[in-house]
Amino acid sequence: MTVEDHDSEYMRPFDKVFAKHEGMGKVVKGEVVEVDGEGKVVVVDDGQRISYDVLILASGCTWADPISPPTAKSEIVSYFQSMRANIVSANNVVVLGGGVVGCEFAAEVKDRFPLKSVTVVHNQGLPGSESYDMKLRRGIANVLEKLEVNVLYDSRGEEDAEAGKVVVTPAEEGSSTPAKEIPADAVFKCSIGKPNTKYAPDAWKDSRGVIKVKQTFQLLSDPTIFAIGDINDIIETKQATHASGNTIPVLSANVLAVLKGEEAKKLYTTQLNGVGMVMGRRNAVGVFQLPLVGMRQLPSFAIRKFKGEDMLAGVFNKSLGY
Ligand SMILES: Cc1cc2nc3c(=O)[nH]c(=O)nc-3n(C[C@H](O)[C@H](O)[C@H](O)COP(=O)(O)OP(=O)(O)OC[C@H]3O[C@@H](n4cnc5c(N)ncnc54)[C@H](O)[C@@H]3O)c2cc1C
Repeated sequence: MTVEDHDSEYMRPFDKVFAKHEGMGKVVKGEVVEVDGEGKVVVVDDGQRISYDVLILASGCTWADPISPPTAKSEIVSYFQSMRANIVSANNVVVLGGGVVGCEFAAEVKDRFPLKSVTVVHNQGLPGSESYDMKLRRGIANVLEKLEVNVLYDSRGEEDAEAGKVVVTPAEEGSSTPAKEIPADAVFKCSIGKPNTKYAPDAWKDSRGVIKVKQTFQLLSDPTIFAIGDINDIIETKQATHASGNTIPVLSANVLAVLKGEEAKKLYTTQLNGVGMVMGRRNAVGVFQLPLVGMRQLPSFAIRKFKGEDMLAGVFNKSLGY
């Protein structure tokens, strides 16, 4: 997405959210700045106060460049144009964080610009983290090697923007391996996102700022407030595909129960159904869960066909009514 011009396909307004159920709801444009759990009111940045019986928090995370676009449509387009310009003009691209996002991004850049030096600095011995299947992690490592992306494993990188470099130190505390410097004229941070939960009282959050919930998605302290997606503290690989999996059935059953004055009983169980990574035009790796068999590798051509053609924009547009 960062290196191709398809902006219009990836941005849609919220005008069709209630199209099939006209009059059953409305979309309010604005930023929630406060939630008053006592008074059961949400405060929006333009001063609007919206009362609720049940509140669902789903405000997601904010990342760093190249995945930190502003919210206004006109600014989003120019943001991605400037990210593309940074990549095009750089000779030494460094990606901090070798999770699925960082590796997918590094592979895309190297595939488009094979003469540029592309380096990933990652704090573990293989791409991704322990929550991912080993076949997937090895598969990603193989593609990066094939594309000649440099990967500095078990390392941490710190950008020194003024000097145009990244200082790399061993990830392991107390290691005697000396720090080294690598040239970097475009640095992209693809590490963990920060939860968008500034509006929530501290008592609802843990030290990372994520909302503490039960397996019913309800707040520990208030059964009428639910938190789903990237902002809750349920330990799992956070994915958009969980919404169409287990999240919405559990959430809707529990919300309806609370509205009827009953106890919310449906429990969310974490599941990783699969991951598909498109790594440039010719490479893709992925795994999917087969019932009773476990994780199996997906063929590259299938991932490129299913995901690579439009990065699932068609599927998501359809779910929004387009
Ligand atoms: C680069 C990248 C690639 C990914 N690829 C995949 C993939 O291939 N497959 C997959 O399944 N998952 C993928 N994910 C993960 C997936 O995007 C997230 O898990 C998912 O979007 C989380 O959904 P959410 O509803 O919790 O939050 P989001 O989708 O982040 O939505 C939250 C929304 O709330 C808005 N918001 C934030 N704060 C406020 C506020 N105070 N007031 C009002 N609105 C607010 C935000 O602007 C945003 O629109 C990817 C993530 C990244 C960053």
